[in-house]
Amino acid sequence: MNWAINSFEQPVALVPQAKALCAICKANLRAHCGDVLTWHWHHEGKDCDPWSEPETKWHQEWKSKFPEAFTEKVKGSHRADILTANGLAIEFQHSSISFAEIQERENFWGGIVWVFDARDWFDNFDLRLRPQDFSFRWKHPRQSMFAIERPLFLDAGSEIFQITFLGRGIPCGGVGRFIPYPYFVRSMMTSKPEKAKVAKI
Ligand SMILES: [Zn+2]
Repeated sequence: MNWAINSFEQPVALVPQAKALCAICKANLRAHCGDVLTWHWHHEGKDCDPWSEPETKWHQEWKSKFPEAFTEKVKGSHRADILTANGLAIEFQHSSISFAEIQERENFWGGIVWVFDARDWFDNFDLRLRPQDFSFRWKHPRQSMFAIERPLFLDAGSEIFQITFLGRGIPCGGVGRFIPYPYFVRSMMTSKPEKAKVAKI
């Protein structure tokens, strides 16, 4: 987490050894000021958001591409990586996630798009160029992704790959397109959740 408060609900500076309170659950936070990750706060005990993933450099880099006012936004007992002014939640997912968890989060947020860290497994996509987009064969598809009904994006390492169609057949195939990072960020900031295209599965 990038921000924390004291017992007077005032923001606390993030410096080594600092302690503060979580603005959501008021539990103790500790400053994490290491060399690998950008400095951040973490709960001394369990994170109050059961959906939170351990902070990675990948999460931090993505959050830093968006205006700070829209990062780590709270709704109920959950924290969105990004929640835009239009109410669109962007979930950056590094670790694997189950079918049921995907459905639960889509139901909770309503307007949500998924960005998976595919840098280590994008090689499993065998891409064929078509006039407007790419078709693909996906070796070892991640089964839980068949639960996704909202827009689905993969971080392929240097660009975003949007899956616009994902077939259930074997072998697994589909259609997608590449989106440069800055254009992805800009279009997310202005997308309306209800207009966000559902991945056709
Ligand atoms: Zn908390």
